[in-house]
Amino acid sequence: MFFDSHCHLTATPLAADFEGVLNRAGESDVTGFLNIADDLASSLAALQGAAIARQHGFVAGATAGVHPQHAQDYHFAAVNSTTDALRRLCACRDIKAVGEIGLDFVYDETHPQHPGAPRDVQERVFRAQLELAIETSLPVVIHNREADEALLRVVAEYQGRLAGGVFHCFGSSVEVARRVLDLGFHLGFTGLVTFKNAESVRDAARFCSLDRLLIETDAPYLAPVPHRGKTNEPSYLPRVAETIAALHGLSIEEFAEVTTQNAKRLFGLD
Ligand SMILES: [Zn+2]
Ligand SMILES: [Zn+2]
Repeated sequence: MFFDSHCHLTATPLAADFEGVLNRAGESDVTGFLNIADDLASSLAALQGAAIARQHGFVAGATAGVHPQHAQDYHFAAVNSTTDALRRLCACRDIKAVGEIGLDFVYDETHPQHPGAPRDVQERVFRAQLELAIETSLPVVIHNREADEALLRVVAEYQGRLAGGVFHCFGSSVEVARRVLDLGFHLGFTGLVTFKNAESVRDAARFCSLDRLLIETDAPYLAPVPHRGKTNEPSYLPRVAETIAALHGLSIEEFAEVTTQNAKRLFGLD
């Protein structure tokens, strides 16, 4: 089986064809996934989606968390804070990680079309959720856009107290990969590794030790070659797997087995 460690199946547009997406995933032997949230409402939906998938025989869990692009909506009130709401979600058995959380320096307040939260607000929201992850002993799913140094600085402060996690959709250099692995974290690789001009991402995937390597689609985004530009879905995950398996000189079956075990171990899934 293949395990999609990062997909948004209960978000637009995949939610509209949830059963179809599950069926096609199953036909491609993608029978495990972590359904990722990016705000409070999607955390609840992700949880419900994982429960339905489990009823269909999938190994599935969900995350709860607020993405840096939604940092502006995070409430720090003394009562009924966003942290309180996330804490209640994290008590649910199918919530397997806090995520996706992190820093997005492309979509900060300077972005001309889609301005996001200022970087200091993003960092405050990120820190609040790292503390929640420590409190709940859950791993974290970290989103990174152009924020390598800031993320490494903040995560290093919490190292040793966190239950690990993944730098998802890894697209940084081998040097950054080495520093993330040194912090005890996993690297998650998407269809980016199949893109023609993504030699540096393939270098990082080749560099990553096999016991810390996860694969993901980040569906509906980032469809791999030859589906590039289409809506991504978990059934395309084998394209990511075969690319990285070749870099490591493994058969796709061996590679699927290793990365599935990595994901199950990190997220406590069975
Ligand atoms: Zn992300
Ligand atoms: Zn995502």
